[in-house]
Amino acid sequence: MTTIMTRNLDAWLPSVADFPRPGVQFRDIGPLLADAAAFAATIDAMVAAVGGWSVQRVAGIESRGLIFGTALALRLGKSLVPVRKPGKLPPPVVRANYALEYGSDGLEIQRASISSGDCVLLVDDVIATGGTLLAAAELVRQLDGQVCGIVALLDISTLGGSTRLAAAGLSVRTLLRS
Ligand code: AMP
Repeated sequence: MTTIMTRNLDAWLPSVADFPRPGVQFRDIGPLLADAAAFAATIDAMVAAVGGWSVQRVAGIESRGLIFGTALALRLGKSLVPVRKPGKLPPPVVRANYALEYGSDGLEIQRASISSGDCVLLVDDVIATGGTLLAAAELVRQLDGQVCGIVALLDISTLGGSTRLAAAGLSVRTLLRS
């Protein structure tokens, strides 16, 4: 796992206590998106983080991963694979479920969005427990694609997600770690 800190992006990601539930320190990307230079620097750093991986498709994970994934797909000149919450994408889709602190959730992609053997880059804003990205990786595998790597803005390393992803054999590069 690699962490790349090209500048202090931390200032654009303030913590919001007890949102959306008590006990959660939510990292708000709103100030970063509002600062055009900071957002551009973030995408530049993400493009640099991809260096060396031969990406064929970029999968952006709903909700905030789609923002960064879309920008990255455009910059890399690769097709975008929207990874959505269940029921958002028209069929045929594949689905993967994952556990949350209370209950479970799921992610879906359209079958036509990945071809067998495609090398897919997964993009999200924050890695917490890693469950979301593990589910996204499972979707890629269901369609016989390969995950060539994961790029995220922030790794909340104390929650263990990046360790789980690395243990699953996935290459993770983040811009910041807390
Ligand atoms: P996880 O599956 O636990 O790694 O959670 C990652 C997903 O949940 C990402 O899509 C994030 O957008 C969101 N998320 C989890 N924890 C936080 C947090 N503390 N601040 C902002 N987003 C978070």
